[in-house]
Amino acid sequence: MRRAAWTCALLALLALQACEREPVRTAVVSGPNALPATVPTAAVQAPPVPPAGAQAPDAPAAMPPAPMAAPGQPAVIAQAPPMAADAAPATDGDALLAARSLLLPVQGMVAGDLSDTYGQGRGGGAHEAIDILAARGTPVLAVDDGTLVKLFTSVPGGLTLYQFDPQNKLAYYYAHLDRYAPGLKEGMLLKRGDLVGYVGSTGNAAANAPHLHFAVFRMGAQPQWWKGTPVNPYPALRRAADLQPLLNR
Ligand SMILES: [Zn+2]
Repeated sequence: MRRAAWTCALLALLALQACEREPVRTAVVSGPNALPATVPTAAVQAPPVPPAGAQAPDAPAAMPPAPMAAPGQPAVIAQAPPMAADAAPATDGDALLAARSLLLPVQGMVAGDLSDTYGQGRGGGAHEAIDILAARGTPVLAVDDGTLVKLFTSVPGGLTLYQFDPQNKLAYYYAHLDRYAPGLKEGMLLKRGDLVGYVGSTGNAAANAPHLHFAVFRMGAQPQWWKGTPVNPYPALRRAADLQPLLNR
């Protein structure tokens, strides 16, 4: 068996043990009683209860309409640039993420450290995130420019951080951090590559499998860090991994 295949199999096995599904964007807003006593005061303020069915109301409208074909000419499909069939954006969130140029969020990681665990079943739900196994204390870096909107402690995610993209359409979510980088403040602007914290196993991650749980959410018209539609980060991370060796030359 090729080494890459072994690595993938090992990663998948470890990741399965590593963390249950982390429905952070819903579980953490059920009220102060749902949070551990160690949560900072700022995190205990329960956000307003979202109206039912209000997620991403602007999502369908954000796609540009296809141009009309001129008489005698074939119709033009203009929604997205040409991509490999398996990487074609399926949703508005996928398209937005595909337009971003992400940095890999764990320092020193390579393509072989990536495994598409987004669709894995975890405790009855889908994982909807990518787990990146790394040694405890490995630096975690901002994948994009954008505002650090929330430092949050949750039962499943442990020490977590939410960052918006520069257009406030996507939220990047980093979980299970061992600790934050010094000097982080909510509202500060992060630059791609800024140190935000260190890999750990806080929350429901297994202590013997520290990893970064990384997720992306497409937000609605009112960007709210606790509310969004999950987007698979794997294609964007995979692209970043493929580009990284070129950048490091
Ligand atoms: Zn995870």
